[in-house]
Amino acid sequence: MSKEIQAIRGMHDILPEQSSLWQHVEATLRGVLLAYGYREIRTPILERTELFARSIGEVTDIVEKEMYTFDDRNGDSLTLRPENTAGCVRAGIENGLLYNQVQRLWYIGPMFRHERPQKGRYRQFHQIGAEIFGLTGPDVDAEQILMSARMWRELGIDDIVELEINSLGTAEERAVYRDALTVYLQAHVTVLDEDSRRRLTSNPLRILDSKNPAMREVIAGAPGLADFLGDASRRHFEGLTTLIEAAGIRYRINPRLVRGLDYYCNTVFEWVTDQLGAQGTVCAGGRYDGLVEQLGGRPTPGVGFAMGLERLVALIEERRQSVEDGQAPHVYLISASEAAQRQGFLLAERLRDALPGVRILCHCGGGGFKNQFRKADRSGARLGLILGDEELAQGSVGIKDLRGGERQVTVPQTELAALLRARLFES
Ligand code: ATP
Ligand code: MG
Repeated sequence: MSKEIQAIRGMHDILPEQSSLWQHVEATLRGVLLAYGYREIRTPILERTELFARSIGEVTDIVEKEMYTFDDRNGDSLTLRPENTAGCVRAGIENGLLYNQVQRLWYIGPMFRHERPQKGRYRQFHQIGAEIFGLTGPDVDAEQILMSARMWRELGIDDIVELEINSLGTAEERAVYRDALTVYLQAHVTVLDEDSRRRLTSNPLRILDSKNPAMREVIAGAPGLADFLGDASRRHFEGLTTLIEAAGIRYRINPRLVRGLDYYCNTVFEWVTDQLGAQGTVCAGGRYDGLVEQLGGRPTPGVGFAMGLERLVALIEERRQSVEDGQAPHVYLISASEAAQRQGFLLAERLRDALPGVRILCHCGGGGFKNQFRKADRSGARLGLILGDEELAQGSVGIKDLRGGERQVTVPQTELAALLRARLFES
């Protein structure tokens, strides 16, 4: 036997037994996005490396050490997208979607980061994200938070996620703060870890984001960005908190929340849970008014967020919520002979014509009735349809309830569609 080939470390197959839950999560989130007027955009998984370097920022974990970057056959440097805000902005500018317009866009798909794989942290993972372009007010920041809150309610996890928010102010306000923070951190340079020392000159705000417990004390003593915000930034933040309070959303202001990417301004937020260990952030986002211009478009404000689907699925599994298997067949068709199977195929085709949405699994590969019934049972189907020699001769079919105790009945094939409609879709 030749050697097995395995998946790449940190990249996972989502198997049929898990995909029903994924589909449930995706359908639920898609429904909420539609309810708020968002429309889907699909962009390529590969982009020019420069797109991410210019948007996410050179001195960030992602660009410094997490990107899958390679030269293609023409020698162009390409990168597997580590996130998709940059791709949406690129596509928006290139296709003229942004200038002087309001756009509400959402996307779903795989993202790639070369991180150390562990629970909740993978090298290929999936995000659903939403972006809104063209509006400056805190009302759209608030609306995105309300929309995400609705997503948790519909997924049944609203009681185990909490909202953290902060304001990063404007780029100018951050520059002044950055100087004050640098002075403070320089005075404590002996307690900084290696990463933080490196960032002291390049990106000191990121030090606040450090997950190293040894850094907690020095971070707690640092000056707060809130004291450096100007009037407009304060008003924006107050506008946001007023709106979400009015909607009954509970939140915590986390002054250390700076987010890992350079492009944010004013509002940043995260939804976190304590049910997933260290990887507790399920959704993160914020405002990025400068990004479109930074990527070559005309100045256009934007706000967006992305959520990690692996973490959401894990959270729902943690709950052991039962999700209907949207892929199990409704009907398993059992046939006694080759001739019956041939007729069964055609009967199944007619049923699929008559009953859109019906899921019929035709038994293939022969075998006795007993064996076929066992498979019908395992398939999760509600009903078994039985085509024996007698039924074949009479143009009838047996219907057996595989889940309840109802007696098996035999009906003319011509009445089958109406009967199945009543039993599967109208009860
Ligand atoms: P973290 O602090 O956990 O590294 P991040 O700030 O890098 O997260 P974002 O870039 O904001 O994450 O991505 C948004 C969401 O995508 C995260 O909140 C998380 O749910 C998910 N996510 C990010 N990286 C990964 C990963 N490597 N594996 C699985 N999910 C991820
Ligand atoms: Mg990260």
